[in-house]
Amino acid sequence: MGNKSLVIGEAKAGALRNVTLEAIAAAKQMDEDAEIVGMLCGESGIGDQAQEMIYHGADRVVTVEHNNLQTYTPEGYGQAIMAVADEESPDAIVMGHTAIGKDITPKIASKLDSGLISDAIGIEHEDGETVFTRPIYSGKAFEKKVIRSGRTFVTIRPNNIKPLERDSSQSGTVSTKDVDVKDIHTVIKDVIRKGSEGVDLSEANVIVAGGRGVKSEEGFKPLYDLADALGGAVGASRGACDAEYCDYSLQIGQTGKVVTPDLYIAVGVSGAIQHLAGMSNSKVIVAINKDAESNIFNVADYGIVGDLFEIIPTLTEEVKKI
Ligand code: FAD
Repeated sequence: MGNKSLVIGEAKAGALRNVTLEAIAAAKQMDEDAEIVGMLCGESGIGDQAQEMIYHGADRVVTVEHNNLQTYTPEGYGQAIMAVADEESPDAIVMGHTAIGKDITPKIASKLDSGLISDAIGIEHEDGETVFTRPIYSGKAFEKKVIRSGRTFVTIRPNNIKPLERDSSQSGTVSTKDVDVKDIHTVIKDVIRKGSEGVDLSEANVIVAGGRGVKSEEGFKPLYDLADALGGAVGASRGACDAEYCDYSLQIGQTGKVVTPDLYIAVGVSGAIQHLAGMSNSKVIVAINKDAESNIFNVADYGIVGDLFEIIPTLTEEVKKI
């Protein structure tokens, strides 16, 4: 029998998260001959999302549906994932390096007595081994890692591995596994969503990030206009969050979100080391700052020296013309 890879999927607001599709592509890159088994947890009605995993390369999907899986808890998801992992005995497990992925994978890895490589951004094959690249020291260096015994367990950073083309002619079974999910110690009474509505910041292809230079909550409005025109999301430095110009859910950096969009536009951000830790691996960085000596220009691919309040509206108008 060939190898098997289990991809633990995630959905948000009723839709599959993009990083789940990237995780399927990662599993394929790790072993293109392996059977790819997707899994999804939820309260009910996750069949469409399971089908979407098949259209993006999963051979089949196992869902676990239970009242106690309405929202994420480590106990609930842990029981569901362990039940599927025990039954499937996969050679590899892949999940997105998301808030849930970061929380649950070390617990599962320790239960399965397995190694774990977290936050991988690249996969290569060398001398018969699968080698994962991951950033260290807040993105200032990279290390290459292999797991030499037991199963390969890995989380992948969003926005680094291209999903496979969607193919709606792909067929595969979606089966439901009965798991008696119980003994949940925490009860989520209500979820209050703040900040990034629309495009998810950690998965956005384009981010317009404002810093203390934006000067006020009002000053962020032109950044939202530019982000809308580009189909992107708005982020912020801690300086802007501390000054209460925006919510902390937008914070990017060492103590905020780590992002790797195709395009990162830093607006009135000085480029402190803690901010760079969250965005310096973005594919293209554009910096807009009135101080030509600002550190942000040291990591920028393109820089504009000038007043953001003049540049941003002009840029938005130009983008709208395209
Ligand atoms: P500033 O450094 O004040 O920069 C504002 C910039 O705006 C300046 O470069 C200025 O030239 C420019 N500017 C002003 N007016 C205009 C204008 N009209 N047009 C154009 N440009 C203009 N920071 C983070 O961002 N993320 C983190 O996760 C984070 N974690 C931290 C963790 C620790 C333990 C510590 C100690 C700090 C952390 N910080 C973090 C804070 C970090 O050190 C900086 O203080 C912060 O990033 C500065 O934010 P800023 O660049 O918006 O503000």
